[in-house]
Amino acid sequence: MRIGALEAGGTKMVCAVGDELGNIYDKVTIPTETPDETMPKMIEYFKNAHVDALGIGCFGPVCLDKADAHYGYITSTPKIAWRSYDIVGAFEASLGVPVGFDTDVNAACLGEVSFGSASGLSDVLYLTVGTGIGLGIYSGGKLLHGNLHPEAGHILLRRHPSDTYAGKCPYHKDCFEGLAAGPAIEERYGVPARELSDAKAWDIEAYYIAQALVSYILILAPQKIILGGGVMHKTELFPMIREHVEKLLNGYIVTRELKDLEDYIVPASLNDEQGIKGCLVLGRDA
Ligand code: ZN
Repeated sequence: MRIGALEAGGTKMVCAVGDELGNIYDKVTIPTETPDETMPKMIEYFKNAHVDALGIGCFGPVCLDKADAHYGYITSTPKIAWRSYDIVGAFEASLGVPVGFDTDVNAACLGEVSFGSASGLSDVLYLTVGTGIGLGIYSGGKLLHGNLHPEAGHILLRRHPSDTYAGKCPYHKDCFEGLAAGPAIEERYGVPARELSDAKAWDIEAYYIAQALVSYILILAPQKIILGGGVMHKTELFPMIREHVEKLLNGYIVTRELKDLEDYIVPASLNDEQGIKGCLVLGRDA
């Protein structure tokens, strides 16, 4: 089976062709401009590849409710040109193949569950910390959707006592994303996250990520938590996050998984291909 995979992001569209086993035969990146500019390029790519199905992991918010007339639409995104855009309908009409659709973070979570370090588990979280913060939730053996889809990057946190930064989220100011996503780091310290070397600054970042993880652990009881995204390329964050998680939980949760935090809170395992591989699974299932 030849499956098309599209990881639709706010700055770039990663298009690939692969199979249901997670093999990727070909991959291209197309800049995200307006639908009028970008869609024909992607359609041409997948047409030439003769795919049997397509899986899309998309930036959001998106409508995932199949009973809703707007299923398959990108909805209230700040990227105006893509607002209320029927991305699934556009591909179905032009390619004539089944299209699977979910959020980018749910797709990445599915990639890790299908081919990565979370293989075989039923309850897994995938948190991305980059330009934005998003959480993919695989719960009870399936991706969690609910009335929309989880927006767990916008949960409210307790402030670090020495952090006076106002926060960058246009909706909530100092929610998790407003305090800890890449743009918040850059605005607060005046350098991009990848150039930031201040240990105190990274401790504050780890403190916020750990607080979010503690809430997720208490609510969702995951078997494993995978952290990806640009900010998480700073590998020194992992031991700092685990330490804060341990302190914040303070021995309250006693399970096999929580005893070994190094195996519990882990980096993405698929060389930043977890998202596109998850899209292959979405295509297969469609
Ligand atoms: Zn927010």
